[in-house]
Amino acid sequence: MQQSSITASVDFDLAGKQQGFLKLPHSHDDSAWGCIMIPICVINNGVGPTALLTGGNHGDEYEGITGLLKLALKLEPSQITGRVIIVPAMNYPAVLKGTRTSPIDKGNMNRAFPGDPAGTVTQRIADYFQRYLIPICDFALDIHSGGKTLDFIPFAASHRLDNNKQHAACLKGASLFGAPNTLLMFEMEAASLYDTAVENQGKVFVTTELYGGGTSTPQSMLMAERGINNFLIFSGIIKGQLQLPEQPTRMLEMCDLDCYLQSEHAGILEMCVSLGDDIEAGQLVARIYSLERTGEPPKQYFAQRNGVLAARRHPCLIAIGDTFAVLAVPIKC
Ligand SMILES: [Zn+2]
Repeated sequence: MQQSSITASVDFDLAGKQQGFLKLPHSHDDSAWGCIMIPICVINNGVGPTALLTGGNHGDEYEGITGLLKLALKLEPSQITGRVIIVPAMNYPAVLKGTRTSPIDKGNMNRAFPGDPAGTVTQRIADYFQRYLIPICDFALDIHSGGKTLDFIPFAASHRLDNNKQHAACLKGASLFGAPNTLLMFEMEAASLYDTAVENQGKVFVTTELYGGGTSTPQSMLMAERGINNFLIFSGIIKGQLQLPEQPTRMLEMCDLDCYLQSEHAGILEMCVSLGDDIEAGQLVARIYSLERTGEPPKQYFAQRNGVLAARRHPCLIAIGDTFAVLAVPIKC
């Protein structure tokens, strides 16, 4: 396969701390021989594992972006054993625009794997992670939150994996992140996820969903920063005490497609349950009102199974096909 057009201004093997860029050539109207300059920080000290920390996989999810910008400022080589690679804005064009997908090619980074070195900007970034960054890491943490259109109960997550040892390590990493909930996720489009790309290379992978709505709060930032620190302790890269909440993390699973409720109507969404509520099969979850005329009764949506409301649509304006509620089922691990 052809070499990536992306070059790194940092040397991944150099000891110490480097702030630099992944440079992606991008010729466009305002810059004939321009480059997209994706910020990257590499901190390297002695022999040890490598953690790859990413935010901005989606451009409107701020806990990862902000938390990792802060980490790149404060983490010093003397505090670590091994290597930490920080990319706070994985889909950099999307982050600059504050949108989920790239304004250049509409690429959704988390549906672009394994990527393509000859493809669009988003596909080329995905390919660089696939063939250059994932292979040199042992642990990867990708921090998501709900973005503009979703809101979540905060959780760290892993997936069910065929390799028992890898499955256990990923689940342990998720449970030690320090979020009030730990989730085994069922993905609607697993094949093209960054998550799957990392897991398929045998690495320990943890992802998160930390609140949402396209903003951050002191509460969500605290959780992100504490989680990043816990993840580096879990990886054996920094020393220190895990900071875990008093209440043990609750184990949940999104087991199948019945956990997702999608709208079959357009209009205005009225949620009838709140995030974190315990819900029973058959319970009214939401009403959707037509905006076309008055006097029309709302369409009612009922839970298809028991569970906890783990995610909801954030905006009230809703189109047909939008996911407006996701249930997760308490499990014992
Ligand atoms: Zn996301």
